[in-house]
Amino acid sequence: MHHPLEKFLFCPVCGNKSFNINDFKSKKCGTCGFTYYANPCSATAAFILNDRGELLVAKRGKEPAKGTLDLPGGFVDMGETVEDGMKREIQEETGLTVTEVRYLFSIPNQYLYSDMLIHTIDMFYEIHVGHDVKPVADDDAAALQWIPLAEVNPKDFGLKSISKGVERYLAESLRK
Ligand SMILES: [Zn+2]
Repeated sequence: MHHPLEKFLFCPVCGNKSFNINDFKSKKCGTCGFTYYANPCSATAAFILNDRGELLVAKRGKEPAKGTLDLPGGFVDMGETVEDGMKREIQEETGLTVTEVRYLFSIPNQYLYSDMLIHTIDMFYEIHVGHDVKPVADDDAAALQWIPLAEVNPKDFGLKSISKGVERYLAESLRK
């Protein structure tokens, strides 16, 4: 497996080249002793359902996986709760203001950004809204559409963990 800090060649404190692998998730400077740990970035994905049993899906407007389907959500900022981060992303991408959210499960993922493999932990939530809400696509979402849950295909979702999450969610909803 690649080391999460393989792109960090120099110590960011003293600039020395002896910034060496310390263990599977950290590097340590052999000169000044500075140690840095890589941890997964927190990310969210929301299953937003209306009272007709339709799921709100976004078409990705940016790489990676541009043009494929996605769930609203994104990275959690520093100092933010996971719930607040997800509500902010939903607001930015769909214009919807949501209040009640229910945590479901999480799936680890890797995300190629700036030619660097970023490790994330994607947390999935379920949110119910009325059929009268009018989401408007913005930010990372190029377009939005409601799809009846029975017609949702996990293969249409380009990000691996999102596709796995959709598959798991559909399997669990069908069992109910
Ligand atoms: Zn150093």
